[in-house]
Amino acid sequence: MPTVKCNVANCVYWGEGNNCQADAILVEIDQHADQNVDMSVSGSLAEGDLHRDSAKHSAETCCHTFRPKH
Ligand code: SF4
Repeated sequence: MPTVKCNVANCVYWGEGNNCQADAILVEIDQHADQNVDMSVSGSLAEGDLHRDSAKHSAETCCHTFRPKH
């Protein structure tokens, strides 16, 4: 498992030291930032949510596994 550092502290998967605790995350391009992605607890993506995009800079990408803490 890679270490995933994250600064989104109000995510349910966020942990101390800014470490993501999710089993898997999905990163998308910003152009798809408004899409809701169905990612199961097992880390499996629903069919249709897997595709290939490209980005030129890290600023053009974002995490879609985010779930807000309530
Ligand atoms: S799931 Fe995404 S937003 Fe949530 S802590 Fe992990 S990297 Fe950050």
